[in-house]
Amino acid sequence: MRFLVTAGPTREHLDPVRFLSNRSTGRMGFAVAAAAAEAGHAVTLVAGPVALGTPPGAARVDVVSARDMLAVVQAHLPGADVLVMTAAVADWRPRHMAAAKLKKAAMNPVIELEPNPDILGTLAPAKDGRLFVGFAAETGDPLPEARRKLAAKGLDLIVANDVSRSDSGFAVETNRVTLIGADGTFTPLPLLTKIEVAREIVKWCEAQRARTTEAT
Ligand code: C5P
Repeated sequence: MRFLVTAGPTREHLDPVRFLSNRSTGRMGFAVAAAAAEAGHAVTLVAGPVALGTPPGAARVDVVSARDMLAVVQAHLPGADVLVMTAAVADWRPRHMAAAKLKKAAMNPVIELEPNPDILGTLAPAKDGRLFVGFAAETGDPLPEARRKLAAKGLDLIVANDVSRSDSGFAVETNRVTLIGADGTFTPLPLLTKIEVAREIVKWCEAQRARTTEAT
């Protein structure tokens, strides 16, 4: 299969040196790319600004903002069988981006924001038999929000993750997640390293593809 994987945060610049972003380090997405490549799949990895080396076998495209990420994912989607949106895409961006560094004295203490496009939502009409996998990183019980996003974004699988735990989520090596499939499959996984979680996601995609191929 051909995997298209997004990873890391996006940065939404206010000026060339200031931006809005989030705590994502990209580790989970890079682990998905590594697990897919090690299983013999073709992998394109679309990465926000992160300090990680490219997994062997993955072709990497670096992006900065949510809009850059959308454009690159859109361009690569026709050549993909699976889209795994692991990226923590910034929901908002400053309405104005200054071309030169803003002077402190001239800055408005209120930043006006506008919403970023939802990448999965924008690409849903082009899904066309591809598998779409999303992540729901929530503080507290992630299952209700994960189920809502699974349906709202028309996904095949959502990976529900409670990021308020010290052993799961941002900037740690492990994750405790539940895989929720649109087909009703519900798989709570134990505390695993991110590469082990990634291998489970890749296996789920392989099994799902085998089921749909059998059915046709
Ligand atoms: O941010 P949220 O919890 O809604 O993210 C759920 C899923 O949607 C994630 O897989 C994320 O990568 C994706 N997403 C997206 N475009 C956005 C925000 C999130 O595709 N603008």
